[in-house]
Amino acid sequence: MSFFGIFFAPVPKLFWSEYSGEPFFNCIDCDVPLIESNVYVIQKRYVAGEAVFEMAMCERCRDKLTQEYSEETRGNITAYMKKQFQKSAAAGLDDVEGTQIIEVREIEEPEDGEALLQRCIEHCLVCGTERSKCHRYSLAGLCRDNEIVAQVTPISQTPLMVCEKCEMGMADLVSQQTRDSWDRFVEEHFDCPPGVEVDSPSSYPMAF
Ligand SMILES: [Zn+2]
Ligand SMILES: [Zn+2]
Repeated sequence: MSFFGIFFAPVPKLFWSEYSGEPFFNCIDCDVPLIESNVYVIQKRYVAGEAVFEMAMCERCRDKLTQEYSEETRGNITAYMKKQFQKSAAAGLDDVEGTQIIEVREIEEPEDGEALLQRCIEHCLVCGTERSKCHRYSLAGLCRDNEIVAQVTPISQTPLMVCEKCEMGMADLVSQQTRDSWDRFVEEHFDCPPGVEVDSPSSYPMAF
């Protein structure tokens, strides 16, 4: 079984829209069909097995939103996530000194690919807690056409899952300016005022 690799799988139901009961079709911001975007991102937040927050966003809008985050926040998050990816990848590296060359190839065996995908979404990236044991957690995944991109390298991973506890711990990485622009975005795009079920904006899945 390959620890690192890339695999394209049909978007799992976990990443479908709870609201429509179907896969996401349009970008939440510009409304363009997602299949017209090179890649797009899906984010969901679950509480007690139910999605309480969901969105899909095309690459262009995603970049635009990220640009609004402060430089400090972007730097913090990039550094933090890199550390988590490396920690998680350690299990797949040989225990040897020096440089290891890792080839990240497309996985051909569907079973292997599926296993890699499950590995990404069944455990919290940060603390390793099983998803089934988490009351609240967030998921983020990169998609292309109607497929999810499952990719694990020594420095990156998609999709990913983070439990609430670990997400809360990331709040310090986010500056006030970034939090404000994210709050504004949520207010513009969602009916429910932030603070209802989508409580504490600091712990939104925004950080991915
Ligand atoms: Zn868009
Ligand atoms: Zn965790």
